[in-house]
Amino acid sequence: MKLLRQIATYAPEYQGVKDILLANDKIIAIEDHIEASITGIDIEEIDGSGKVAVPGFIDSHFHLLGGGGENGFHNRTPEVQLSQLTTAGVTTVVGVLGTDGVGRDDMALLSKARGLETEGITTYMYVGNYRLPVETITDSVIKDTMAIDKVIGIGEIAIADHRNGAPTFAEFAHAAADARVGGLLAGKAGVTNIHVGPGKTRLSFIRQALEETDIPVSNFYPTHCERSEALLDEAINFAKAGGVFDITGSENPDQTYELDGSIPFRQCLKRVIDEGLDPDCITMTSDGQGSLPIFDENNHFVQMGVGSSKSLLTGVKESVEKENIPLETALRAITSAPAKLLKFSNKGHLKVGFDADIVLLDEDNLTIDTVIAKGETMVEKGTAVKWGTFEKREA
Ligand code: ZN
Repeated sequence: MKLLRQIATYAPEYQGVKDILLANDKIIAIEDHIEASITGIDIEEIDGSGKVAVPGFIDSHFHLLGGGGENGFHNRTPEVQLSQLTTAGVTTVVGVLGTDGVGRDDMALLSKARGLETEGITTYMYVGNYRLPVETITDSVIKDTMAIDKVIGIGEIAIADHRNGAPTFAEFAHAAADARVGGLLAGKAGVTNIHVGPGKTRLSFIRQALEETDIPVSNFYPTHCERSEALLDEAINFAKAGGVFDITGSENPDQTYELDGSIPFRQCLKRVIDEGLDPDCITMTSDGQGSLPIFDENNHFVQMGVGSSKSLLTGVKESVEKENIPLETALRAITSAPAKLLKFSNKGHLKVGFDADIVLLDEDNLTIDTVIAKGETMVEKGTAVKWGTFEKREA
């Protein structure tokens, strides 16, 4: 058992200063004061002064196996290791494949997701890659969703992108409809996670699906909507129709903005608030382990790097510091909003009965201090204390 003592608690809604009691992998009490002592059981106390407790982050678009490879084989990015996720505050991750569904496939992604789960965090996956028809593990999308615990939908299906095999609208609608039925039968979200590329058609396939089919808007989950002002405008209209869209965060949002015009998360969230929309219509993910060019201060290419979940906290911090958005609102995009859309019923909130996935941030600068996943401490004082099976321990 663990007892977090007198800590400012964001559920993500601000709750005041609380004691939080954890038993095994669950939160069992959140009270003003908890007197807990059980004979023969050690209760580890964690001092909450100077810290805030927030739900563990949900990164629902991550290339667990690596991605890239689009400039030849040496550009394939590496697999993620446990501590790269946990030190960024991520306790739940959804794996995706990208352009390459051949050199890496669904079975390998499922294996990687299972491995990370064994190492201590919670993992899911979208089955498929950029192309349609969806490549599956069994013989159908519906069967994959019903038979495989980790499969919560299909993705990332590419639209407005030359790398998607140029599917017809009918193929797109058929795939989304199957994902929905699989979700219904398995009690899962059954979403179609949609990579929106730089192409001029932007969200037109999604709009057409909403007009011409009966698939509900909540089954379409477009990502990379920060790519341009025109795309963000369409995403806002999609949200007005009841949809939830996703923004790919960046560790250097201003630099990205200068380079390619993509809009920092904080400004996308501000736009949502200014439009009077429910902040649950926007989520943020990292596109982690995707390939990412690194530039120096003069915007000269230095080398290829990989995306990291660290962009999530960057986006939240900047929303608070640069846009004056309350922490409890900014946090929703990486906690309660994805949990609601993806039907993670025990995730995304600090609440009695929910999973003990908790991040402690320093109150002053919102940097990560402690990360607890399913009741187990993964990170202390910003440093991993639990490592992946093949990770090199630091000191
Ligand atoms: Zn993508």
